[in-house]
Amino acid sequence: MNGFDVCVLGRGAVGQALALSLGRLGLSVALVAPARPDTGPGAADVRTYALGASSIALLDQLKVWDAVRAARPSAATRVLDMQVRGDGAGAGALNFSAWQQGVGELAWIVDAAVLERELANALRFAPHVQLLDAAVEAPLTAICEGKDGATRAALGIETERFDYGQTAVAARLGSERPHQGIARQWFGAPDVLALLPFDLADGPGYGLVWSLPDERARTLLAVEPAAFEAALAEATQGAAGPLRLQGERAAWPLRVASARRWHGRWPGRADAAWVLLGDAAHVVHPLAGQGLNLGLADVRTLAEVLAERQRGAAWRPLSDERLLARYARRRIAPTWAMTRLTDGLQKLFAEPAPLLRQARNRGLSVVESLPPLKRWLAARALAD
Ligand SMILES: Cc1cc2nc3c(=O)[nH]c(=O)nc-3n(C[C@H](O)[C@H](O)[C@H](O)COP(=O)(O)OP(=O)(O)OC[C@H]3O[C@@H](n4cnc5c(N)ncnc54)[C@H](O)[C@@H]3O)c2cc1C
Repeated sequence: MNGFDVCVLGRGAVGQALALSLGRLGLSVALVAPARPDTGPGAADVRTYALGASSIALLDQLKVWDAVRAARPSAATRVLDMQVRGDGAGAGALNFSAWQQGVGELAWIVDAAVLERELANALRFAPHVQLLDAAVEAPLTAICEGKDGATRAALGIETERFDYGQTAVAARLGSERPHQGIARQWFGAPDVLALLPFDLADGPGYGLVWSLPDERARTLLAVEPAAFEAALAEATQGAAGPLRLQGERAAWPLRVASARRWHGRWPGRADAAWVLLGDAAHVVHPLAGQGLNLGLADVRTLAEVLAERQRGAAWRPLSDERLLARYARRRIAPTWAMTRLTDGLQKLFAEPAPLLRQARNRGLSVVESLPPLKRWLAARALAD
């Protein structure tokens, strides 16, 4: 072999964070991105990610978080409160606050493009990581190619997949009123709309993620900005004040997907194995803002398992199946739980039947009236 311990395929946030993490363990890492840009959503990613405490802790450990926070214009905004609303007349409501939860913030809203840029900057100084444009043979290949990567397909790894027939429309919005760190979410039937507080270069604003049936999303992507803003005002009932579209709208078709295997032996090479991380292993609906949080938890766990291998009495090669099975065991249960939760919520709220609407609105109000249950739910959501 060529001396690399690990070949990481994919230079999204997960692949970059993994290369940094493994480089810090002293492993020699090849980080591979295709020579030609693929047909992804394009250079300017307008998304803002909600990232939880564990993801921020990982970015901090990788010396990336300070750079994201120092970026100008601002690239990270704290969420202090979260307001969830049901749909229709008698809509239920659920409110979470960092203060009640006893934490500094419920989450951070982070500029997706700045996050990837700062991960790339950190990699320039990572001593054990080399950037390549073609895969190399290594004892371990970490597949971080996102939801449609070619390597997973070439290895014949099956995924369980359901397409929602929905598209997420993302955009940046300027706001006339201060956002006060409040994230707002409306569960309609079938829309799910989130306004994530985010400071723009010229004042307060929000990151929008609006999940809609494909046909309606196509319409809203095509209409003039004024018509889009009017639709937004109607959907949010003016709760956040007047909102202006800033820049482009972008769209992502939505699905839920889980790989049936997370690791295996590389075909034809007895001393080599593969492992999946991030969207290559699992895709969830963005309604809970958890996809990248799950991917960064994969990174943390694989790095922990590989570090234990170096510390433990029983040293194992990187391609050792028992080692990779340990990683998969630690990640499959929490990922499965989040997949079921987001999928269940999506399906519950996609159903327009009036009785179901009443029941779910009542459900939101019941949780709101039970502070211990609410605190427990929030603590679970903050845990990853
Ligand atoms: C609208 C929307 C909002 C979201 N909001 C949130 C949120 O608030 N919080 C959150 O945690 N998550 C959120 N997510 C989910 C998050 O975007 C994904 O989970 C995350 O981007 C996955 O990262 P990844 O690195 O696994 O995959 P990707 O970001 O898809 O990166 C994969 C990379 O691999 C490259 N690649 C592909 N094929 C190859 C190959 N053969 N060789 C080498 N490289 C290859 C691609 O070019 C790409 O750069 C959201 C998703 C959407 C659609």
